[in-house]
Amino acid sequence: MYSMSYGFGHARTAQTTIPCRACGTALRVERTCHEVFLRCATCRTTHTVGEYVDQMDDALESFMENVYCDRT
Ligand SMILES: [Zn+2]
Repeated sequence: MYSMSYGFGHARTAQTTIPCRACGTALRVERTCHEVFLRCATCRTTHTVGEYVDQMDDALESFMENVYCDRT
């Protein structure tokens, strides 16, 4: 089996341009089958998308469009 992290099509993480409110680091968006969250590599914290929905950028928006649990 191939690593799911590098599967074709839908990535499980993406880099956004949304700055962390605590430190300003651009957040990464990650998903599991059940949820999507934003992670700050500097603070080592996670944030819900809802906290940053007013700052949603193209990267996050396109990522959200692909948030489904792929069972093909
Ligand atoms: Zn941070």
